[in-house]
Amino acid sequence: MPAPYRATDPVDFLVVGSGAAGGSVAKELSQAGFDVVVLEQGPYLTEKDFTHDELKFVFQNYLINDIRKQPQTYRTTAAETASRDLRMVYGRQVGGGTVHFNSNYWRFLELDFRERSLWGGIPGTGFSDWPITYSDLEPYYTKAEYDIGVSGLAGANPFEGPRSQPYPLPPMPVKSSGVLFERGARKLGLRPFPAPVAILSRDYRGRTACKHCGYCPRFGCEFASKSSALATVIRMAERTKRCEVRADSYVSRIETDSQGRVTGAAYFDARRKERFQKAKAVVVCANGAETPRLLLMSHSNRFPHGLANSSGLVGKYLMYDLGTLVSGLFEHPLNDHKSIDVTRVVFDYYAADRRRGFYGGGGIDCRFGSNPITHAILGVPPDLPQWGSEWKGLVGEYFTHTMSSLAHATSLPMESNRIDLDPVLKDAWGLPAMRVTYRRHPDDIANMKFLLARQREILEAAGARKVWDLGPDDLSYSVHLMGTCRMGADPAASVVDKYHRAHDVPNLFVVDGSSFVTSGRQQPTATIQALAYRAAAHMIESAKRGEV
Ligand SMILES: Cc1cc2nc3c(=O)[nH]c(=O)nc-3n(C[C@H](O)[C@H](O)[C@H](O)COP(=O)(O)OP(=O)(O)OC[C@H]3O[C@@H](n4cnc5c(N)ncnc54)[C@H](O)[C@@H]3O)c2cc1C
Repeated sequence: MPAPYRATDPVDFLVVGSGAAGGSVAKELSQAGFDVVVLEQGPYLTEKDFTHDELKFVFQNYLINDIRKQPQTYRTTAAETASRDLRMVYGRQVGGGTVHFNSNYWRFLELDFRERSLWGGIPGTGFSDWPITYSDLEPYYTKAEYDIGVSGLAGANPFEGPRSQPYPLPPMPVKSSGVLFERGARKLGLRPFPAPVAILSRDYRGRTACKHCGYCPRFGCEFASKSSALATVIRMAERTKRCEVRADSYVSRIETDSQGRVTGAAYFDARRKERFQKAKAVVVCANGAETPRLLLMSHSNRFPHGLANSSGLVGKYLMYDLGTLVSGLFEHPLNDHKSIDVTRVVFDYYAADRRRGFYGGGGIDCRFGSNPITHAILGVPPDLPQWGSEWKGLVGEYFTHTMSSLAHATSLPMESNRIDLDPVLKDAWGLPAMRVTYRRHPDDIANMKFLLARQREILEAAGARKVWDLGPDDLSYSVHLMGTCRMGADPAASVVDKYHRAHDVPNLFVVDGSSFVTSGRQQPTATIQALAYRAAAHMIESAKRGEV
């Protein structure tokens, strides 16, 4: 039965969300011969829609979820009343966040999957091992890297687990920030290496190499050189003629029958008309924030606390994006606004170390990451004039002479940190708004302070004339959405099994950052995509055996 499909004909798999996870699952399932419909709430944009209009893409959040239509509320503990705020940021179009992401594409290390065994328990947290290991996931990291096109240097990261294949593409050329960062890091005895990125350093499988325009973060790539789900797996899926990507389709609930099996999903189309797509199985890939919201909205008499939520853990153990930013001003021009965001990283502080006195660690990169208007607003250090002719002169100097370093830090899983449904606020479709409850563990804060000090050391060793940071206090929002439907063997302590099948519902799968048990050091997309390939392989085998 070729696409497009009729709503009344049950397709084999209905996928909710078309980002890194949904796109990869749809590609694998359709290539295996299954009929797939992908429901994506956002529009179907293509390369011709991607310009360098900074006002539109950065300040009007053209590619990001719009809180005027889908508001969120936030509080730090359950004792507070949550107030309106944007806390969970994600890409809302076909391709999801991969359309505008910075494209840092880090595999997790072997230790990331068994940190509880290595470190022991941490009071007040749900710190646990994953039910899978790095070697379970390795073939799927490789498959994803080759399918989408990832640039990097195998063996350069001294901490990386074994790989079955080198990267398909050589690393991107080093930028000024990378040269200086490498110099500073080496002076300190650290081992920097070329950053792996989901951007093409050379032409690859019909797509053209990066043109170094400097408009990656928050922008879509007009050359399709960014290896987004849109430019890669979505198109591969559509080429099978067995996958229909239905944009502007906002899923409001997943329906179940009297046996407790899912039957399909109700959604609003572009005209806000309610529709229903029948399916034999549903795969929820709506990301670490929207997936738990959708499961909670899908409550019924049989599942009164939300779908797949007999453990009560749907939405819980949210892990946040804990990054620390340090900037440095250099004597000579760097012009680091050109080309991709990040070209060098160090993992020397990645593993937790008891001598530090707390649990935690992080990867540290170097970057610039601002376009002209953003830089004019944020780029001059707070101790200098922010107004008038003196400020104008500083803007020019700092734009050309500055680089920054971002550390990507651990975020401990705590049951009290969660996504649930706001009891009062509704979105523009009349659905309950997302409520976010989050506060950091004391070890998270200690770790951020530790990493800030290491970042300062590197920039100083690199020769910065002035180094500044905004402290460990910026918790404004999270773009790396992890936890909330954790995977595990015990149905009482997890939401999905190690193949992403819901413990409570045999034909429901949940595949995205929500299944993460621990946060790694963020940059979750490579792992989300590897998990999606692994989950799809299992779905294909199970479906062929008639077990879905
Ligand atoms: C500015 C920014 C920079 C980033 N940079 C990096 C980086 O350098 N490296 C890295 O690893 N990660 C980065 N990320 C994170 C990265 O974008 C995500 O990890 C990745 O996109 C997650 O993939 P996903 O498939 O789980 O979810 P998403 O990509 O968020 O896809 C989920 C999709 O589901 C859709 N959806 C949600 N709810 C519904 C519903 N009810 N009905 C229908 N559709 C729905 C959404 O619109 C979305 O398109 C960045 C994120 C942001 C915002």
